[in-house]
Amino acid sequence: MREKYQELLAKLHEVDDIQMAVSVLNWDQTTYMPPGGAEARGRQIATLGRLSQEKFIDPAIGRLLDQLQPWGETLPVDSDEAAMLRVTRRDYDQATRVPPAFLGEFYGHIAQSYQVWAEARPANDFSKVRPLLEKTLDYSRRLAEFFAPYDHIIDPLIDMADYGMKAATVSALFSELRRELVPIVQAITSQPAADDSCLHMNYPEKEQEAFGIDVVRALGYDFERGRLDKTHHPFTTRFAAGDVRITTRYDEHNFGDAFFSTVHEAGHAMYEQGIRVAYDGTPLGSGTSAGVHESQSRTWENIVGRSREFWTHYYPLLKARFPAQLENISLDAFYRAINKVEKSLVRVDADEATYNLHVMLRFDFEIALLEGKLAVKDLPEAWNERFRQDFGILPPNDRLGCLQDVHWYGGSIGGAFQGYTLGNIISALFYDQALKAHPEIPAEIEQGKFDLLHGWLVENIYQYGRKYTAAELIERVSGSPLRIEPYIQYLKRKYSDLYAL
Ligand SMILES: [Zn+2]
Repeated sequence: MREKYQELLAKLHEVDDIQMAVSVLNWDQTTYMPPGGAEARGRQIATLGRLSQEKFIDPAIGRLLDQLQPWGETLPVDSDEAAMLRVTRRDYDQATRVPPAFLGEFYGHIAQSYQVWAEARPANDFSKVRPLLEKTLDYSRRLAEFFAPYDHIIDPLIDMADYGMKAATVSALFSELRRELVPIVQAITSQPAADDSCLHMNYPEKEQEAFGIDVVRALGYDFERGRLDKTHHPFTTRFAAGDVRITTRYDEHNFGDAFFSTVHEAGHAMYEQGIRVAYDGTPLGSGTSAGVHESQSRTWENIVGRSREFWTHYYPLLKARFPAQLENISLDAFYRAINKVEKSLVRVDADEATYNLHVMLRFDFEIALLEGKLAVKDLPEAWNERFRQDFGILPPNDRLGCLQDVHWYGGSIGGAFQGYTLGNIISALFYDQALKAHPEIPAEIEQGKFDLLHGWLVENIYQYGRKYTAAELIERVSGSPLRIEPYIQYLKRKYSDLYAL
């Protein structure tokens, strides 16, 4: 059986090799590739993508999994081998349920939809993408149907990003969170807005980059096994345990833009860098779910990177780099500026307090669209109306409304958004546990040291990769299922200090 297990691993490594080659091509495409390479690159990525899919759904892998199953059941549930068989079986079943012909057609459609959206958004022309979005909705429903029976049609789509989560669990968590959040946001936004003009002085790119690199290195991002490059839409990519890269973009008139997105991506990357090297090239060798992944980017970006303790150490260093820009700005004023709360139109620019309301709105629309309760043609109007109810402002156009996010125009409808809010909830839950283990973490952060927190995260979360599902990880770490209380407590503590709540 050991031999068969090694045979399976060898096959899985080959699949991973091809997938990682696709990732390198993708990374290159979004960082350094000249525009002239676009057409050939699209073809190369499609070919390799198809090859890795074909290799993975090879019946030989299915046979090995069948043969190994009885052996797997004799192993301790907690062993790496048992987990490898469990997770590979889950991936294999998921991949083999969807006919390759459907996938090919769907990907082709998505590529076209993305192209049209990329023009329709700046032109503020929803009618241009509407027919494509209608087809995407149809494809999304058909994709879900391959996984019938399900409790709710969105469940299989959620599963692909946040395995084990269901419409019912997510909706329950979200409505509980909403009840708590709305009064907090109301209380904050009824007070005068924080002055964040200090973040919009001229911040030369070179200095921003040097500061960002200093910070993420101190947090624990390993440049021996990573690098930072420039792109339009920041992302993290993993080629191997020894090569996890981050990207960012600079706006010389917005200090927070590059800084917080660099720290955000470093959070994703530290998770990937912390996974056991032995899992490299296998289905266990990546983060376990969209929600848990996002919890790590948010931990470093928000809980650490937007904390008073962090800036107690780093603000003098920032001031030394930008003496003219920050000359008359106190630590307190800077801290208020980076934590400004306002009802704004765009999700990606939203602050910690209002961000989740943006996500809930999208999640509810995904459900309504998939259930057939909302037609694509009625989306812009429904969006604006719901936005007015939730935020008290009416989007002036679709560009700042239902056209703003790429997700539905470059992927399926369903499963794309819940991970962001789950990530926020999980980040506070994990951080709470880290504090229980090491109450001195905030004092360490004040010294510009992050070893205790980083070490705790590697030990309890990162090293396991996909060995445990999100639900298992949460249960192991906190002793109970996912709860919103730590997140609400975190927000209340933070914002009652900033505003008189
Ligand atoms: Zn992220």
